[in-house]
Amino acid sequence: MEEWMKSKKTKAHSPTETPQVQDVISYLSAFYHGLPVRILPSALRFVPWDQTKKSTARSTPRYVGLAIGNECVGIRTRASPDKVYPRQLNLDDLLDATIGMLPKDAYALCFLVDHDLFEDADDIFVCGRAYGVSRVAVLSSARYCPDLDAIQAALTAISTLPTPDPSVTATEMSALWLARMCRTASHELGHCFGVDHCVYHACIMQGSASLSEDARQPPYLCPVDLSKILHATGSSASSHYHAMLAFCEQPHVKEAPFFRAFAAWIHAILAQMSNSSH
Ligand SMILES: [Zn+2]
Ligand SMILES: [Zn+2]
Repeated sequence: MEEWMKSKKTKAHSPTETPQVQDVISYLSAFYHGLPVRILPSALRFVPWDQTKKSTARSTPRYVGLAIGNECVGIRTRASPDKVYPRQLNLDDLLDATIGMLPKDAYALCFLVDHDLFEDADDIFVCGRAYGVSRVAVLSSARYCPDLDAIQAALTAISTLPTPDPSVTATEMSALWLARMCRTASHELGHCFGVDHCVYHACIMQGSASLSEDARQPPYLCPVDLSKILHATGSSASSHYHAMLAFCEQPHVKEAPFFRAFAAWIHAILAQMSNSSH
């Protein structure tokens, strides 16, 4: 299954690094400041689903097993219709498995996967989804890889996906990929807190129907949704912004345009808050 995570459309040895889970956790800890964010303690593994059937070396499994402790859940797979990745995993099966994994002492669970996903026969791919009521989300990093931006823009005939210029460094490309994952993870978990798509302002909780729309959304919460999230986390706006700023100013991300711009925005908001409190 390792091969399924490698896009045939990118260079074999691209220097762009897959987002690190620990970075996404740090971002979510800042975004949902006041709530602990942890890695699920039970190890998850993908395993062959039906070992009783003699599979030839050339046959591709229609199902893979997701081993969670002593249990194993079947996950449907299919060939990726646009061939950007060799195979995709079924989102609904992963969401159902995630519902079963939600620990009793956890409020919500976000399952991060590197595989490409699909939901039903009509779609080409999906990036993930939350079942807000069940307080779970599944999120794939596959299509957010900046190395794929040019090819995806061509495939969807959309030229609005901001393609990074060729002079950007591998560190910046990796930070952009991380930024996209962090942003979507904070959005999907927002649904788990009962926050619906935002219709008020520029906001991370706005709905998006495509990758290009996704890329245009800001990473911050509008005042309406910020107050909803602060109500849930018990934190304050000032603590939330200071935690987000500390994340954006870490040495390995602070040079990336996304985090630099976000840090500048947070500085401006904090200055505004301190002015209005005098
Ligand atoms: Zn949403
Ligand atoms: Zn909003």
